Amino acid sequence: TRPGDAQPRLSFFWSLPRTQFEQWERDGMARWLDEIAALWPDAHQRLQGVSECAQLARAGYRDAVMTRWHRGRLVLAGDSAHAMSPQLGQGVNMALMDALALRDALRAHAATDAALQAYQAQRSAHVAIYQFWSRWLTPLFQSERDRLAQARDVLFKPMGALPGGRGHMLRVLSGTQHGWWGKLGLSPGFVEAMAAR
Ligand SMILES: Cc1cc2nc3c(=O)[nH]c(=O)nc-3n(C[C@H](O)[C@H](O)[C@H](O)COP(=O)(O)OP(=O)(O)OC[C@H]3O[C@@H](n4cnc5c(N)ncnc54)[C@H](O)[C@@H]3O)c2cc1C
Repeated sequence: TRPGDAQPRLSFFWSLPRTQFEQWERDGMARWLDEIAALWPDAHQRLQGVSECAQLARAGYRDAVMTRWHRGRLVLAGDSAHAMSPQLGQGVNMALMDALALRDALRAHAATDAALQAYQAQRSAHVAIYQFWSRWLTPLFQSERDRLAQARDVLFKPMGALPGGRGHMLRVLSGTQHGWWGKLGLSPGFVEAMAAR
């Protein structure tokens, strides 16, 4: 639900290789809805009001790895600096953290160039591990490579049981992994507020 609106809402994502999009449109909604009904009847129920392709928003994505995030007074933040596949669900957090880091860097450095360099250094050190995992995990979750998906199903659970494995996975999924071995410090106030909930 949204603030001031009791209507429950949900997000629904359907992944396609870009090259299959036009074919999906040509095939029409009835065929697609049948496919969903076979895969997951409950999801099909939720799509009752969807009868036109145009009711779904199309979003494409790709990896953007920028070596330079600023030039003069122009600065990149969020997806413009480090777009990646939404596999890890961290794009919004990363964009918000960029904004905070940019604010802090501009307050700490009088010279714009020094501020923007400090901003890039801080944020690129954090997002690097997310770019790495997003790049290498996406084919395991979203591709036609079924052998890789089978290996994923077999290996992921034991990997999470290895010393340090579960902690690393949880930190990556919560946005708090820093480099290979580091953790991002959370403010005590935030941790207390979470514990209270
Ligand atoms: C299918 C999908 C699922 C995702 N799931 C998640 C998730 O579960 N969790 C998560 O954290 N992230 C998720 N993401 C990623 C997340 O949406 C992005 O990382 C995040 O929105 C980036 O924020 P941003 O402000 O950098 O860019 P955007 O949100 O893309 O904002 C850029 C804005 O600029 C506007 N714009 C573009 N060009 C111009 C112009 N010339 N003039 C004026 N305005 C312009 C655009 O309309 C847009 O509103 C997902 C992304 C996709 C595609």
